[in-house]
Amino acid sequence: MNKAISLLVAVSVVLTACNDDAVKEKKVGTSPFTNCSFDMAAPGETFDIAIVNGRVMDPECNFDGVRNVGIKGNRITVISKGEIKGKKTIDAAGHVVAPGFVNTHNHSFAPFDTKMMAHDGITTLLDTEAGASNVKLFYDKYKDKVFVNYGVGVSHEEVRRVVLDGLTEEQTSDPTYILTSRGLAQKDGHASWALDIPTPEQHKQILKMYIQGMHDGAISVSSTVGYMGYGVPTYEIFDLQKLAKKYERFFGAHTRFGPTESLPTNYTLGVREIIANAVAIDGSLILSHIQNQNWQESYELARRLQKRGMNIFAEYYPAITGNPNIATPQLLPDKIDKNNIDPTKHIYNPRTGKLYESREAFFKMQKESPDEAIFIIVRDPRWMKEWPHMKDIVIASDAIAYFDKNGKPLPLDAHYSEYGGHPRNAGSNGIVFREAREQNIPLMDIVNNASYVAARYLSTAGLKAMQERGRMQPGMIADITIFNPDTIAETSTMKFGERGSYTRGIPYVIINGQVSIDNGVANTKILAGQPIRYEIMNKKVPDEIDLGDKEFQWHSGMPGYPATRFPPQKMNPPSPNELERKETSQFQDRESLMHSLACPLHSLPKQTASKVKHDHKHDEHGHDHQHVEQLRQAEQVDVLASVMN
Ligand SMILES: [Zn+2]
Ligand SMILES: [Zn+2]
Repeated sequence: MNKAISLLVAVSVVLTACNDDAVKEKKVGTSPFTNCSFDMAAPGETFDIAIVNGRVMDPECNFDGVRNVGIKGNRITVISKGEIKGKKTIDAAGHVVAPGFVNTHNHSFAPFDTKMMAHDGITTLLDTEAGASNVKLFYDKYKDKVFVNYGVGVSHEEVRRVVLDGLTEEQTSDPTYILTSRGLAQKDGHASWALDIPTPEQHKQILKMYIQGMHDGAISVSSTVGYMGYGVPTYEIFDLQKLAKKYERFFGAHTRFGPTESLPTNYTLGVREIIANAVAIDGSLILSHIQNQNWQESYELARRLQKRGMNIFAEYYPAITGNPNIATPQLLPDKIDKNNIDPTKHIYNPRTGKLYESREAFFKMQKESPDEAIFIIVRDPRWMKEWPHMKDIVIASDAIAYFDKNGKPLPLDAHYSEYGGHPRNAGSNGIVFREAREQNIPLMDIVNNASYVAARYLSTAGLKAMQERGRMQPGMIADITIFNPDTIAETSTMKFGERGSYTRGIPYVIINGQVSIDNGVANTKILAGQPIRYEIMNKKVPDEIDLGDKEFQWHSGMPGYPATRFPPQKMNPPSPNELERKETSQFQDRESLMHSLACPLHSLPKQTASKVKHDHKHDEHGHDHQHVEQLRQAEQVDVLASVMN
């Protein structure tokens, strides 16, 4: 298609998208500030910044055309074909001028980490999965100190560590230190936050801390119940979702059973738990990192609910390894075998770049340094090529902060070669844009996933800061990522020294109207990040909690209600021996789990599987298995190579 025709098509698309009928059709995601005006007259005034000759892309208006962009203060004021002048001019010829990328699943707000993620095109970092026990402490701590926009939800595991493990709010209010906080709770040998069911009093205390967080403007009610499956009853999750609904916030969760736990089919049951609750209460929902076992099913569930107008979105990060702490409850000595994980095959020590050499070495480290980070293989490498095809899903990184050997996060001016965290933290967007290019996935779909999807759904939940972001439109806040669609790619690898290497092909990143990445160089004098937060309510947390559910509650009229729904006393988690069901557990190790993912018949219990006609070709089957093994070995070789350097 020649340029003139493509422009014509782009303009007609804009007209279609912006006539009244089309806008009415948009069930979710339309901001009150939406403005699809891409052909404004070019005024004679001089802008603070003029971005000229760039290919402007806006997923909300479905606009894609070469335009000039004028920025005044912190806002985009004009998008025009006409010539414009700026005090600073950025020639964006051959580049895409996109809305700044929004990452809704990030745990690190450490100085260097946020700069590194800005190099990956990110202008907003949110933690909607873990978060803080006291969000006010978080927002106060980071005011005017972050390279990109920042926000957090109230954290289930951090609140539980305050209520059940006795940690302080100061110890539990910055997700940058989430692994430190987990380690502190593990010091006495018992992670109460993950393993214990709260008493009715403790349950109430947990809810009250959440309400305080809502009053303090938290972006979400969050839960990492996937790490706490032994201790969190279903009514606790249901109550949290009702609480989110009451305050019209998102409930975001790392769902039960995955990815470090148990059999592959369980994972989607955890996804279904929070979907069932959300459907019942018409609540907003974020499905955190859905790329785990049977992710195809989780994706279909999310897409069907989006189509029905529910305010739901999912996110994923492009990596086959997770990055939790070594004392993750599912990896404790009495649980690790049940979860089919072998430290000598699946768990890397990031400091050495090697797999743990023995179970003994792993458990020793677990006991001595429970907060130590690990890289753990939990996914099939082939999925890396499949995930970028998912539509209307947020590209996240799930970045965990990196601490150097002195136990400190790197300073803003550190060199990337000092970074030893997971390479996905530096290159998640680079990976997905490169994959999309190599596989001819439409660029608009990926720009949409990188920027607009998060903004659109968070807008619908009334978060004003996101109603004005994630869009390349006049009037919006100037959060802009300028990238070369032909060269954008990750350069970070598993090798120590390259793990923080910046994504290439992103020369400019503008945050709140300030050029934070300028011609490939971060201007570390600028800390332009603004808080992303709901309005603060100056209200007292009530003593009696009303979740808006009284009319639906079963009531026996017996004294003691509603305490009767709680177990009469604290229950201890069952021992692994009690949990063993040898007759149905055919997964002896991770290999057979991988195997089962390639062949759905193997997900069935043995007796059932043998009754089903097994018409799978065995050579083809063997090939699949071998392929996974080869890829895994290749990755190990890559990591091992890093040690040699
Ligand atoms: Zn998670
Ligand atoms: Zn996470």
